[in-house]
Amino acid sequence: MRQPIVGGNWKMNTNRASGTELASAVASSSASARAQVVVFPPFPYLLTIADTLKGSRVMLGAQDVSDRADGAFTGEVSCAMLKDCGVSWALTGHSERRHVIGETDALVNAKTKAALAAGLSVILCIGEKLDQREAGKTDLVNETQLRAGLAGVEPASLSNVVIAYEPVWAIGTGKTASPADAQAAHAHIRKVLRSMYGVDHAEAMRIQYGGSVTASNARELFSQPDIDGGLIGGASLKPADFAQIVAAASP
Ligand code: PEP
Repeated sequence: MRQPIVGGNWKMNTNRASGTELASAVASSSASARAQVVVFPPFPYLLTIADTLKGSRVMLGAQDVSDRADGAFTGEVSCAMLKDCGVSWALTGHSERRHVIGETDALVNAKTKAALAAGLSVILCIGEKLDQREAGKTDLVNETQLRAGLAGVEPASLSNVVIAYEPVWAIGTGKTASPADAQAAHAHIRKVLRSMYGVDHAEAMRIQYGGSVTASNARELFSQPDIDGGLIGGASLKPADFAQIVAAASP
């Protein structure tokens, strides 16, 4: 049985006061959930929110990491610094970093390996753009990003890796993949994992869905056999909605 996992990606939203309030609401609403829960606040609030989450079962994540250990990399934040701030999870390959900031598969892979080497757990995000879906390339894009993102990741590290399937056209748009389409993409991702790492690892790995998950569509998405919870953007900023999404992942 895979434990579902729900992430709240706050992106570049909240401030110190509203972020603290949100974290505290998530801590109380998630207290008895079966799902694992991780929040990803903006960097400047990590230390404050680490304090807020102390003693709760909600874990702290970083929206990005540097692939470098230390040195002259102005503006970057290393994995060791993040761990020092109480962070235990990192996002890599989020579509906004791939398609807005311009991160390549090679950089996503370097960040994934740096985070794992530092002892962080990773949510590696993959997913196709609308034109790729319309051209029938969904599985191909997912497979390419998955193989590239996990290149050189040893089987022993896989228990610290979660895959987030996030179709780019569904992120922040209000358009959600149908449960059947999402399940089909997840089943293909698991098939690729099987060919990379064997059946036991592939069955044990969690694959989240992300892309306009709401309190009303979460339950049906999460009840698909290969969907193990979700990565949530917009709805993670609304405490009552996020609580319902966590509940939907905790049957
Ligand atoms: C995300 O940022 O990963 C995301 C899925 O956003 P939203 O839920 O707003 O589509």
